[in-house]
Amino acid sequence: MDALRAATATPSPGGLPWWLWLALLGLGGGLYYLAECRWWPITDCRKCEGRGKFQPKGRKVRRPCRRCKGTGSRLRFGRKVWNRFARVRKAAS
Ligand SMILES: [Zn+2]
Repeated sequence: MDALRAATATPSPGGLPWWLWLALLGLGGGLYYLAECRWWPITDCRKCEGRGKFQPKGRKVRRPCRRCKGTGSRLRFGRKVWNRFARVRKAAS
């Protein structure tokens, strides 16, 4: 336990401090998400799990999913932000 505390409290000589690893991990995750938004902007609807139809609990009728309008897919949140930035950039130039 003491060894663990010493390892996390002080950066090990020659190695990277733990917070830098954390920052790199976060950066990697962010880049991965950006890549997803760039190349796979469309993902399965969370409400109907990509089926396009939604069955309310305790009912037999299936109705088209309202959130994705029956398409079963939705635009990623990151892509919406991306589009907004793109629009702002286009308007500025
Ligand atoms: Zn849906």
